[in-house]
Amino acid sequence: MTALSPRRRLEYLDALGLQQWVRRTPGPAIGGRGGAERAGNAAWERLRADVAGCVRCGLHSGRTQTVFGVGDAAARWLVVGEAPGAEEDRRGEPFVGRAGRLLDEMLRAIGLARQQVFIANVLKCRPPGNRDPRPDEVAACLPYLAAQIASIRPTLILAVGRIAAQNLLSTDLALARLRGRVHAFGSPPTPLIVTYHPAYLLRSPADKARAWEDLKFARRSFLRLAAAAA
Ligand code: URA
Repeated sequence: MTALSPRRRLEYLDALGLQQWVRRTPGPAIGGRGGAERAGNAAWERLRADVAGCVRCGLHSGRTQTVFGVGDAAARWLVVGEAPGAEEDRRGEPFVGRAGRLLDEMLRAIGLARQQVFIANVLKCRPPGNRDPRPDEVAACLPYLAAQIASIRPTLILAVGRIAAQNLLSTDLALARLRGRVHAFGSPPTPLIVTYHPAYLLRSPADKARAWEDLKFARRSFLRLAAAAA
């Protein structure tokens, strides 16, 4: 993709109604641990290879490729979405379409570059027609995400959207009931905060203000958790 000029970028953000995502003053650094010390690690590469060859559920037959995840393998923030869409299936990278560009803006608004976080999905393969993941597919795939979480050891997981939130938290509660609290995933527990899926926000821009509240809450929570761990 060619880089946008600053003016085109502002026009583009305007057109999408994204002004609220633009951070005007730099905040404290809240990104990675200063290097992807676990990238290139043999266990991580084995996990990547396992995912690439996975045939644990029927989705393998329709995929172009698996979508392992992208970013800093030692990131303090892990963003988890639902599953690859058509563009992600083609490119092998999560959140590369229009929703991905909004996700990048959301992260930037709280001082994070895409490269500073790790981005993954509950499912590593695209469900046909972008239907919701089935329980058997989630059961087959979740161990990969759990292994990624165990390796990355993020300070905070940001679950974007109902599907990611419900599956990570094993709950049927609506997204509205899950927002605004620090949950925990797994054992040892990793703090987890829920917000809207960027694709949903593109369809329902009125909820962007709520998403912005979630992001500010996530940032505050992160800073508190990081300080407590220091
Ligand atoms: N939506 C998701 O949840 N994940 C992606 O990777 C792309 C779109």
